[in-house]
Amino acid sequence: MLLEGSCHCGSVRFSVHSAQPVPFMRCYCSICRKTAGGGGYAINLGADATTLQIHKGRRHLRVYRAILRDGDEATHTSSGQRHFCGRCGSALWLFDPTWPELVHPHASAIDTPLPVPPENVHLMLGSKANWVRPEGQRGDPRYDVYPDMSLAQWHERHGLTSKD
Ligand SMILES: [Zn+2]
Repeated sequence: MLLEGSCHCGSVRFSVHSAQPVPFMRCYCSICRKTAGGGGYAINLGADATTLQIHKGRRHLRVYRAILRDGDEATHTSSGQRHFCGRCGSALWLFDPTWPELVHPHASAIDTPLPVPPENVHLMLGSKANWVRPEGQRGDPRYDVYPDMSLAQWHERHGLTSKD
């Protein structure tokens, strides 16, 4: 599925091909909810990094790399590159060179109508803010940490893998 995306102010426009376009996965980790999740979580999609095209506003792109705590003193910088618009702050996509073939657009940045997910998967609930009551349907999978399941596996399980 071809996804077209943009930031709120319109400075940045991009497109990317996605085999995992269903916005089912709600991540409540501190990075997602602080940088992209006003409701307590963010939703990322799976897409093919080689097809990412920035049509407009490359000069406005900024990258945030989170500092992660390993222990009391020790920290390291996340390999994840969180791209956002430097003018309006919209979260756009995550790219991690550890998986160079993938890019994860934020569902919130996509303008193309997305498929409605049959369920939501709630993950990193161990990191959620205290005031967040995860909404969803009865039977939604819920995980305190990151589940051992990829975006692609979920799409396959639900017969939703798109071939474009
Ligand atoms: Zn913007």
